[in-house]
Amino acid sequence: MAVGAAAAALLLPPALTGPASAAPVAPGGSAAATDPGYYLVTSTDRQPGVLANTLERAGFDVLEGPLDHGVPVLADAAAVARLKHRGLSVQYTGPLYQPVSPSLLADPNTYYGGYHTSAGHEAHNKQVSTAHPDLAKLFTIGQSWLKTQGRGGHDIQALCITKIQQGDCELTNTGRKPKFTIMSQMHARELATGELSYRWIDHLINSYGTDSGITALMNSTELWVIPIANPDGVDIVASNSTRPVAQRKNAHDNGCTGTGRGVDLNRNSSYHWDVNQGTKCTETYPGTGAASEPETQGIQNFLAKIYKDTKPAADFSAASTSTTGAFITVHSYSQLDIYPYGWTNQLAPNNNDLRTIAVAMAQANHYDVVHGDGGLNYFAPGATDDWIYGQLGVPGFTIEVGPGSGSCGGFFPAYSCINSFWQLNLPAYLATARAAAAPYPTGH
Ligand SMILES: [Zn+2]
Repeated sequence: MAVGAAAAALLLPPALTGPASAAPVAPGGSAAATDPGYYLVTSTDRQPGVLANTLERAGFDVLEGPLDHGVPVLADAAAVARLKHRGLSVQYTGPLYQPVSPSLLADPNTYYGGYHTSAGHEAHNKQVSTAHPDLAKLFTIGQSWLKTQGRGGHDIQALCITKIQQGDCELTNTGRKPKFTIMSQMHARELATGELSYRWIDHLINSYGTDSGITALMNSTELWVIPIANPDGVDIVASNSTRPVAQRKNAHDNGCTGTGRGVDLNRNSSYHWDVNQGTKCTETYPGTGAASEPETQGIQNFLAKIYKDTKPAADFSAASTSTTGAFITVHSYSQLDIYPYGWTNQLAPNNNDLRTIAVAMAQANHYDVVHGDGGLNYFAPGATDDWIYGQLGVPGFTIEVGPGSGSCGGFFPAYSCINSFWQLNLPAYLATARAAAAPYPTGH
């Protein structure tokens, strides 16, 4: 083991450090030599940023996170062998999968201990809008790639939740209420995110008329939810109910094998779309062009219908102080509240007001507030939060839910972890929703 890797290991919580070079041991103690897991990769002669870039281009699943202790990589046994073959030091930090009780796998609309499938979310959206026509209205805003190919697939659904009065919940930007939108699971393997939207929907509907704060919010604001932005990807993830598939991208069949298939929808927007984000089998492949994917087209068209465009096209021209609305795209993991821009470290023209909202979110969820590359190892050109701010002037944020390690860490936390994520993030959602009436009080 290299000295650097040894030092890094000492900084990790003891319970999370596994054997550095032996096979990972699954929780419960059974050897699981082929199980995928999280690793920190270090090199004696390359800086972490350079190494991250090299590994990403070589097709490794380089994760979004700080590089203080090495490059975080999700790897199976074959990938670990390839990393070692390159002369790199490879430190195991934890398993991808948590154990799932068989008793929690009975509902066909759920997987991995309770997470809802795409079909489960669709049934929920339909049930809520049918049972509460005065509070919720369901829309189809686009199609998944498989659906456009006539190969199954899904509609992209959006739910509008408010105390519905004349003119509310229409696909126009002329309604009288400001609009707050939460979108989740654009990256299919980020399991916690769709589940938080599921709870957000139920919390709003069940609290109307009993919780004065929620009642006031629903009387004054349209609360839109896109629970599953990438339903084809979620179908792939949920195809194994005890060991979900780590699919990030959509299901666009581009000849790549395994999770290499697809386009990264959070690099596919038409704002600062960047051809250099990855080649077609890499995890951040941005597609053949800006908004090439039907999911992106549906989501952008929808958002452009319900929000007024209050920002000049130039990147560093400010949005108007008359702007209303707010938007959060929920991802996992890393415990971050991210505000624009994500394609550059230069400050957005509405930086102070954007940051104020992100700080309000952080007072609730205690995550770190960042922008630009934010001390992470990557910029994110072509992401939805930059698009909605840069294109329309609407304040757009990313929340990265959950820690990087432990039983609630990573992409596939135990389902019970949703309780703590919900307690932390409900007040962050509410703070942002309340900012939608007047997000730019200072205008800079
Ligand atoms: Zn993500």
